[in-house]
Amino acid sequence: MFTPRFTKVSARSKRIPSPATVRVVEERGILVVEDDEAIASGLVRVLDGHGYAVRRLSQGAGAVRDADASIGLVILDLGLPDVDGLEVCRRLRAARSDVAILILTARDNELDVVAGLDAGADDYLVKPFRLSELLARIRSHLRRADARTLRAEAPMQSGELSLDRLARRAWLGSQELALRPKEFDLLALFVENAGIALTRERIMQLVWDGSWSGPTKTLDTHVLGLRTKIGADAITTLRGIGYRFELQ
Ligand code: CA
Repeated sequence: MFTPRFTKVSARSKRIPSPATVRVVEERGILVVEDDEAIASGLVRVLDGHGYAVRRLSQGAGAVRDADASIGLVILDLGLPDVDGLEVCRRLRAARSDVAILILTARDNELDVVAGLDAGADDYLVKPFRLSELLARIRSHLRRADARTLRAEAPMQSGELSLDRLARRAWLGSQELALRPKEFDLLALFVENAGIALTRERIMQLVWDGSWSGPTKTLDTHVLGLRTKIGADAITTLRGIGYRFELQ
């Protein structure tokens, strides 16, 4: 429920007549946790213009309470005046497994980014960021947040690529791919998280069942294998962080 503490914005005003606006009227809203007035008000204005219901908090306290079921995505600044943004991220993730968390960092600080992703964030953007990129990410995250309510075994599609997890089969166009077991698991994780940065540690936990400790060279080997089968451009290496499967 909205309360007066939020910047409540009507989704009907100032619509920008772009194709994206027509498509993107999501049911679930966005919570912006950002203390910088200029950035926050700019974000709220743009998101409102694209038809999203937006709430804004200027501090970390209350973020967990405000990220209720009506919220599909939290845009979280890491540098907050009261609580460490990473701690907010951890609490949000602990409270809501189905909300998408996109962190904002002031600098391209790899440590911040890795810590944020490990604290449960789904993605990050480095300030200053392009609005077109932010909007693309938001669309992807809200779609994904909705998809989390669907059965995990549902067939998946990303561009030319399709996967059937129950049958453990994958195709590129009409051509079935010959994948090793862990290549299939890795590809399924990538497709499920298309457009989202994954740390090496998180991938190892999810694909290698957390039983892996030590060097992660086996991950690189599997990524290399996938690239030769589905195309080198499909998977981007994020130096010092991990990998991102690109939206097709
Ligand atoms: Ca800040």
